[in-house]
Amino acid sequence: MNGAPALSLVIPVYNEQENLVELVDRCLASCRSTDRSFEVILVDDGSQDNSRSMILAAAEQHQEVIGIILNRNYGQHAAVFAGLQQSRGEIVITLDADLQNPPEEIPNLVQAMDQGVDVVGTVRENRQDSFFRRIASNLVNRMVQQATGVMMHDYGCMLRAYRRTIVEAILQCSEHSTFIPILANSFAGSTVEIPVGHARREKGQSKYSVLKLIALQYDLLTSMSTFPLRLLSFVGGVISLCGIAFGLLLMLLRVVYGATWAAEGVFTLFALLFVFIGAQFIALGLLGEYIGRIYHDVRSRPRYFIHEIRQAGPQTPRQ
Ligand code: UDP
Ligand code: MG
Repeated sequence: MNGAPALSLVIPVYNEQENLVELVDRCLASCRSTDRSFEVILVDDGSQDNSRSMILAAAEQHQEVIGIILNRNYGQHAAVFAGLQQSRGEIVITLDADLQNPPEEIPNLVQAMDQGVDVVGTVRENRQDSFFRRIASNLVNRMVQQATGVMMHDYGCMLRAYRRTIVEAILQCSEHSTFIPILANSFAGSTVEIPVGHARREKGQSKYSVLKLIALQYDLLTSMSTFPLRLLSFVGGVISLCGIAFGLLLMLLRVVYGATWAAEGVFTLFALLFVFIGAQFIALGLLGEYIGRIYHDVRSRPRYFIHEIRQAGPQTPRQ
C-alpha cells in the first residue's frame, strides 16, 4: 500500500482470541462500506492466549490489516497509543476488540466526522454492563464534565473518531498515565456526540478487575487536569475556616460561661487544636497548588497547536 489511507482503525487486543475472527471480518466489511481507503491496526497488548498469532495471521491474510505486537501487557490506553503512533489515516477511529462496540457504527462515525469536527464521541444506548459499572461510570462522567468543561456524556466508551491533527497532538504528550478520550478532548476545537449501540460481551471476560478499574479512574482523574488538587485546596480552605470559626466560638463561650463550662481548659485546648488543624489544611492546599504546577510542567504538553498559518506574498524560509 502506498499513500496514507483515509481511515485508520485502532483496536487494542488483550486475550481476545474468541472475538478476533469475527472482529476482523466485521471491521473489514464495515470499512469497505464507507468506500474509502482504510487500515485496521490491531495492537496485541501482551496477550497470553492465541491472539498474538491470530493477529499476525490476519495481517498476512488481509493487506489492510496491520498487526502490532507489544512485548508485554501495558494496559488498554498504552496499546491504543501504540496504534495511534502507527496510524496514518486522516480519520482515526478507536474501538474495543470485544465487539461491545459494534463495528457497524463506523460509517456513522465517519459521516459525523465529515461535518468537520475534530472529535466524534459516542453515547452507548442501553448500555449492557453491570449496574455497578453504570453507576460508577455515570459519576465519573459528571465529574469530568465539571472539570474539563467539555460536555460529553460518555467518556468510558472507546468507540470514537479523531482527526489527524488531534492524533498528532496526543502523540506529542509524553505522560505515561493517559486516558485518551480526555486527552483528545483537551485539544479538540469542536466535538460532537452521536448515539451508538452497545452489545453484551459475548465471549471472553472483561479485562478490568475492580482494582484495575480503580487504577484507571485515577489515570482519568489525574490526566484531565489538576482539578483534584484544586479540590483539595478548596476543601482544605473550607475545613480550616470552619475549624477556626469553631475554635473562636469555643473561646468566646469559655469567656461567657466560665472555666467550669469549658471543662477546666480542655475546650480551650480543643479550640487551639482546631485552629492549628485548619492552618494545616491551608498549607496542604498551598502545597497542592505547587505540586499541580510541577505536574503541569513535568508533563510538558505542547502549549498550543496552530491550525493554520496564512501568508500572502513571497515566503522567506525560516532559519
Ligand atoms: N485491553 C487491553 N489491555 C488491557 C486490558 C484491556 O488492550 O490491559 C483491551 C481489551 O482487549 C479490549 C479493550 O481493551 O479490546 C476493553 O477491555 P474490556 O472489554 O475488558 O473492558 P470493559 O469493556 O470491561 O470496560
Ligand atoms: Mg468490553
